[in-house]
Amino acid sequence: MSEGGPARMVLASANPDKAAEIAALLSEVLPVELVPRPAEVAEVIEDGDTLLENARLKARALTEATGLPAVADDTGLEVDALGGAPGVYSARYAGEDATYADNVTKLLAALAALPDAGGARAARFRTVALAAFPDGTELWAEGVVEGAIAPDARGSGGFGYDPVFVPAGGSDRTFAEMAPQEKHAISHRGRAFRSLAEALAAR
Ligand code: IMP
Repeated sequence: MSEGGPARMVLASANPDKAAEIAALLSEVLPVELVPRPAEVAEVIEDGDTLLENARLKARALTEATGLPAVADDTGLEVDALGGAPGVYSARYAGEDATYADNVTKLLAALAALPDAGGARAARFRTVALAAFPDGTELWAEGVVEGAIAPDARGSGGFGYDPVFVPAGGSDRTFAEMAPQEKHAISHRGRAFRSLAEALAAR
């Protein structure tokens, strides 16, 4: 993808923090100009049953609307003791208009209600990052970070479930207790986009 200067791609995420992070991750591997989602292109309803389907829905809608290659991602938190929930429903675990705090409260309550409340709390974040092209082809990659759910929320950084996610090998700190660079070096999204960038560079 490196002929004729940086590749232009549209990014599905309108969240400026995520957009900056994704641009930085892709640029580590290949020259790319990421264009924000045009305001007139409506946000897609993420009603797929899997992270891959949702990432594909978002990227396809954008590439069809703009004629440019498009990049999208979808993330879920999988908690083993809850049978993999909230998973693909992570954003709306506590309801359609749930805040991050509502979701964290519901997650801690669900774990506390289990017979071995203090027991195994193994969990992982999983991200699917997908690039869709106007010719109908696509490339995608998955990134996973293993960890555990903390007994209580800790830290003020990050967003979403960061205050209760303790990644393996992170000295027992939650993602919310880490500097952004430290989180991104090992995070699900970091891994997914680095590996997508390698696939794009090889295309
Ligand atoms: P999305 O697919 O990136 O929009 O993520 C879906 C939901 O997963 C978000 O609403 C957050 O609750 C959660 N989430 C995604 N990425 C992260 C993360 O890096 N840290 C904590 N929570 C996250």
